Amino acid sequence: MKEYRICTRCVMDTSADDITFDENGYCNYCTDFINQLELFHSDSESELEKKREYLIKKVKKDGQNKPYDCIVGVSGGVDSSYVLYLTKQYGLRPLAVHLDNGWNSELATHNISNLCNKLGVDLYTHVIDWEENRDMQLSFFAANVIDIELLMDNAMAALNYNQSKKYNLKYMLSGTNSATEGMRMPYNWNHYKYDKKNILSIHKKFGKVKIETHPLFSTWDFLWNRYIINHKWISFLDYFVYNKAAALKILQKEVDYKPYPYKHYESVFTRFYQGYILPHKFNVDKRRLHLSTLIIAGQMAREEALKHFNSSPYADPAQEKQDKEFVMKKLGFTEERFEKYIKTPGVSHEYYGSEKWLMNLLVYINGIRKKIIK
Ligand SMILES: [Zn+2]
Repeated sequence: MKEYRICTRCVMDTSADDITFDENGYCNYCTDFINQLELFHSDSESELEKKREYLIKKVKKDGQNKPYDCIVGVSGGVDSSYVLYLTKQYGLRPLAVHLDNGWNSELATHNISNLCNKLGVDLYTHVIDWEENRDMQLSFFAANVIDIELLMDNAMAALNYNQSKKYNLKYMLSGTNSATEGMRMPYNWNHYKYDKKNILSIHKKFGKVKIETHPLFSTWDFLWNRYIINHKWISFLDYFVYNKAAALKILQKEVDYKPYPYKHYESVFTRFYQGYILPHKFNVDKRRLHLSTLIIAGQMAREEALKHFNSSPYADPAQEKQDKEFVMKKLGFTEERFEKYIKTPGVSHEYYGSEKWLMNLLVYINGIRKKIIK
């Protein structure tokens, strides 16, 4: 096992498998992020505006003679809600799509329907049958793999692309953005999100319920959409100077958006997964990424950030207990079985069937292609 080490500039540590340190003790994560920030901030406001106008024009043109101009996936969180708000400000006609896997908090559901009503946007909600979703999640627990959220993320991608295909819309505008998302995720903290084969292979081994309502998305689906019919994700907020706190204020004022009392309150499962399962079973604390991003952005002192690790990601122990009981009951875990799960070591996703090799190969080929063109 590697010796424990933490970066001297941010708070990333050896829980990231591929972390390296330079002679100052600075890690590759914060160094790469600083380079990325420089690249990102190189656009002046007027350049950004030009790019934005060009994009809006293209999206409008694509929507001509169609019921909508674009797809916007909404989770109820600030980023995607703000994307939807902005599309209306720029005169676009979006279709909002939402995935209901049985874990949405009431407040998130309220925020989504309220937002769409106020903005006059059509909302399409796809509901995954609860017994089916439960069975798929339980099979990921049984497989001891790290990325249980892969199920939700993969289904969300499938849903967006399915709707874009249905209405023949080229553009899916998303709330992902470089401004607030910050440093890249270490490879061992999650898994490749288009790995349909991995989902099917784990479910085949451990699942019992037939998959009928859970949409799935593969690398081939991605290649077909991206390179053959040219349907694509756009990180829409990258076309704006994006400030999350300011966006929240606008949403509260303009569409009566209700802020969440805790991070990830959109889904109780996501909160419990990040706040309990990842740190206790996999020794992964996602706060490291978030706090390191703040340190590098100059919004927090490193000493201040380090203090956070003296306590659990759950600020409130009563909330932790409540979430744990809720999740165990909903999934049907006994206390004993859940504790056994937490103590069992993690297993790599690639131990099961996987199509990650295909994506790795494509990335490799693309690297060679770029070198040749250069
Ligand atoms: Zn660092």
